Amino acid sequence: MSTINTVQTSPQAVLHQVFGYHEFRGPQEAVIHALVAGEDALVLMPTGGGKSLCYQIPALVREGVAVVVSPLIALMQDQVNALREVGVRAGFLNSTLSSQEWWQTESALQRGELDLLYIAPERLIQPRTLELLHGLTIALFAIDEAHCVSQWGHDFRADYLKLDLLPREFPRVPRIALTATADLRTRDEIVERLQLHNARQFISGFDRPNIQYRIAQKNNPKIQLMRFLREEQAGNSGIVYCLSRNKVEQIAEWLCSEGFNALPYHAGLSASIRQQHQEKFLREDNIIMVATIAFGMGIDKPDVRFVAHLDLPKSIEAYYQETGRAGRDGETATTLLLYGLEDVIKLRQMMSQSEGSEEFKRNEQQRLNAMLGLCEITSCRRQSLLRYFGDHLVQPCGNCDNCLIPPQTWDGSEAVQMALSCVYRTGQRFGAGHVIDVLRGSNNEKVLQFDHHRLSTYGIGKHLSVDEWKSIFRQLVARGLLDVNSDGFGGLLLNEGCRPYLRGEERLLLRREAKSIANSPRRANL
Ligand code: ADP
Ligand code: ZN
Repeated sequence: MSTINTVQTSPQAVLHQVFGYHEFRGPQEAVIHALVAGEDALVLMPTGGGKSLCYQIPALVREGVAVVVSPLIALMQDQVNALREVGVRAGFLNSTLSSQEWWQTESALQRGELDLLYIAPERLIQPRTLELLHGLTIALFAIDEAHCVSQWGHDFRADYLKLDLLPREFPRVPRIALTATADLRTRDEIVERLQLHNARQFISGFDRPNIQYRIAQKNNPKIQLMRFLREEQAGNSGIVYCLSRNKVEQIAEWLCSEGFNALPYHAGLSASIRQQHQEKFLREDNIIMVATIAFGMGIDKPDVRFVAHLDLPKSIEAYYQETGRAGRDGETATTLLLYGLEDVIKLRQMMSQSEGSEEFKRNEQQRLNAMLGLCEITSCRRQSLLRYFGDHLVQPCGNCDNCLIPPQTWDGSEAVQMALSCVYRTGQRFGAGHVIDVLRGSNNEKVLQFDHHRLSTYGIGKHLSVDEWKSIFRQLVARGLLDVNSDGFGGLLLNEGCRPYLRGEERLLLRREAKSIANSPRRANL
C-alpha cells in the first residue's frame, strides 16, 4: 500500500493526488484553510455535499493524527477501508474491535502511523483513551453528525454532551463540527454545547435542485405507491419510509408478492439482518428498502432514485434529511409523501402522550405544525422548505408538484361550517370517520345507536365524497382549527380558533386535492 508524506503538502495537492478530484466543492476550500490555520469550524452542508473532505484533507496537511468522532459504528470499517484504498493511513476504535485489534491500533497511534482515527463518542471520553491521546500529536478533532448533541432531535446521544471536555483537555487542537441538520435552533445548540463560540460557521446551499418534491393526499396508499413504482420508477433503487416496524414488514412483504425486490429495515431486526439488508441495498441495483427512520443516517448510496413516505415525518428537518438521501449523484430523483387525516391525528396524539416536559412537547408540536404547513401550502414547496432553513430561493422552482400542477383552491366556508357544527352536535367525542358518516347520512349501526340520524346535521353533506370530507377535516386539524382529544381515540374538539368559521363570520379557502390517484406531475411536464 502506498502512503503519502503528509506534512507540508498543500490542500490542493492532496485533493488531486490522494482523492483524485479536480476542484473543491462549495465551501470546502475555505473550511480546510480555516482548520489548517488552527481555527475551529462549524460546517452545515446537506447530505452528499462533501463534508468528509473538510476534515480528511486537513488531517493529511496538519501534523499528527486527526480524531474523528462519529456515532455510526457500523460504517467506520467502510470509511477506513475507503481511505486505505487511496493510501491514507486510517484506523478506528470502537466496541466491535477484539482486544488484539485494539492493541494494534493503539500501538500504530503511538508510533505515529495513523493520519485519521475514527472513534465512537463513548470510547473517546473514557479516561484511558484521553490518556492515550495526550501522548500523541493531534492534528484536529472532527465531530461528525454534530446534531446528535441536540436533545430535541431524534438522533440525540448523551455521550455527545460530554464532548465539551475537548477544548478543556486539548485547548490548542482545532475542532470542526459537521452536520446536515440546519435549523437555527440546532445550530445554536451545537455551538453552545460543544463550546464553539469562536468557530467560523460555514452554511451552504440546502437546495437539492435535482430532487422533485411531491406531497399528495393519501387515499389508497398501496395503489398510489404501486403506480408510482411501476409507472415511474421501474428498475430503480429507492427507499420507502413507514412509521412503524409492523407496517415496514407488511409493505415489504406485499411489495415482494407484487414482484419487487423489497427488503425490510427497522430496529427490531437483528443486527446481522440489518447489516445484510443494508449491504444488499448499497451494492445491488433495483432494491427497494422499506424502512423506519432507523435506516439512513450516514448511508452513502449515490443512485437512490426515489424516496417515498407512506407516513408523515415529524418535522421538516426529518423530511429534508430523509428525502435528501435521494439523488446524491446529482441525477433526477423524485420524492413522494402520502399523507392524510389519520397521520395528523396519530402524530398529534403521539406528541401529547409523550413523556417529555411541557417545553419539549410544545417544541415538537411547533415542528409538526411547520411540517403540516409545508404539506398544505399551495405555492412552491422548495421555496418554503428552503425558507425554513434560512436559505432563499427567488423564483418558484418549477420542480415540485405545486409548481408543475398549481393546486386549485375552493371556498370551503360552507362545508367547514357543516363539519364544525356536526362535531359540536355529536358531542365532541367522535373521530372524523363517524362525523363524516353523520354528515353523509349513513345509516350504519353506530349512527343509529347514538341516535345521530336525528341530528340537524345528519345527511347535510351528501354532496361531498368521503375523501373530500377527509381532506376538509385534515386541513382543519392541520391548520389548528380543530383539536384532537389526547385520550387515544382521536375524538375531535372545537377550539377558539374555529369559532369565526363555525359562525360563518370568516371565509376559508381550502386546497382541492388532485383528482389523479398517483398525482404524478412529471407526466404533465412531457
Ligand atoms: P456528506 O458527508 O456531506 O454527506 P460526503 O463527504 O460523503 O458527503 O461526499 C459525498 C460525495 O461527494 C462522495 O462520493 C465524495 O467523494 C464526493 N465529493 C466530495 N467532495 C468532492 C469534490 N470536491 N469533488 C468531487 N467529488 C467530491
Ligand atoms: Zn416549486
